[in-house]
Amino acid sequence: MTQRPFNFSAGPAALPEEVLNQVAAEMLDWQGSGMSVMEMSHRGPEFTRICAEAENDLRELLQVPANFRILFMQGGGLAENAIVPMNLARGGKVDVVVTGSWSKKSAEEARRYASVNIAASGSDSKFTQLPSPGSWQLSADAAYVHVCSNETIDGIEFHELPDLKALGSAAPLVIDCSSHQLSRSIDWSRVGLAFGGAQKNIGPAGLTLVFVREDLLGHALPICPSAFDYQTVAAAQSMYNTPPTFSIYVAGLVFQWLKKFSYAGKTGVAAIEQRNIDKAQLLYGALDGSKLFENRVAAHARSRMNIPFYLRGEYNTPQLTSAFLDGAKARNLLQLKGHKSVGGMRASIYNAMPLEGVQALVAYLKDFEAQYG
Ligand SMILES: *Cc1c(COP(=O)(O)O)cnc(C)c1O
Repeated sequence: MTQRPFNFSAGPAALPEEVLNQVAAEMLDWQGSGMSVMEMSHRGPEFTRICAEAENDLRELLQVPANFRILFMQGGGLAENAIVPMNLARGGKVDVVVTGSWSKKSAEEARRYASVNIAASGSDSKFTQLPSPGSWQLSADAAYVHVCSNETIDGIEFHELPDLKALGSAAPLVIDCSSHQLSRSIDWSRVGLAFGGAQKNIGPAGLTLVFVREDLLGHALPICPSAFDYQTVAAAQSMYNTPPTFSIYVAGLVFQWLKKFSYAGKTGVAAIEQRNIDKAQLLYGALDGSKLFENRVAAHARSRMNIPFYLRGEYNTPQLTSAFLDGAKARNLLQLKGHKSVGGMRASIYNAMPLEGVQALVAYLKDFEAQYG
């Protein structure tokens, strides 16, 4: 088979080719069952096994502690912006740290269910920094503190999660980790709840992962739909209603792929984290060394997953941006267009993007600069 193009989509995003091949091979008959996974009862023995293995593998990969439940839900990151306050806010106050487009949305949605304190905020028009945790104005009585640990549109990432206890807050930390979950290890001692849609770094759209500390269950507001009450979903092992079975199956194959993944003498999440660091360094290095392109995010806040970039100064015209994107496509470098709200370009280099994909992009940046710079 000829080499597939390198796909830089922000999400739904590229999946490992091995996984896609296995899905294709098992499409009509999953392991002698005579059924596609899409055609199986979610309560039958085959899918029960698929789902349990996926959860166990995920728990092992991220070393999720025993006092956290893993929930397979639906609705994506945006629905969680409502589901989290409906479950955790108890009608009181929540702190939100606004570092980019997604946390800003989270704050707006939470206002429908809780009183929201913006504990810190980057500049609204261009998010390029992380406000330092020491400067956050945390409430004494917040039900939780929300941060987006990787801002997909602005390209901003927390490289270390805030230690709320050290900052004087007893509230649990909620992280929206949609676009970097499973790209690195997580310090669970700092987290109360983590959520993310699967379609960025894990599998097909339709599946939302929620990791929730057990003591946070059981406080949903009466208006919370039963299917979104964490306690109800946890008690039913994510089978309160039909879960997104096919997405869970494909995610499970991605977990198996990651368990076997090796790089630089490491395996699993440690290996993928190292490769993600190397890929990001390669691309930021090329952008910083360029006279034609730039990334505008402060070094301490740069995302390893989503790297927005622009043509510099007088070169930053719609015509040259289009020429760049057309030329990229002609070289089999797909979906590099920036988010519509910020323009420019964006390379999303999730787990499934090989080092060769970033090398090909860097070679194209140099060739484009030689031609137009
Ligand atoms: C994509 C994204 C969302 C929205 O996810 P949906 O699954 O489309 O609802 C929320 N937060 C972050 C950080 C994202 O990257």
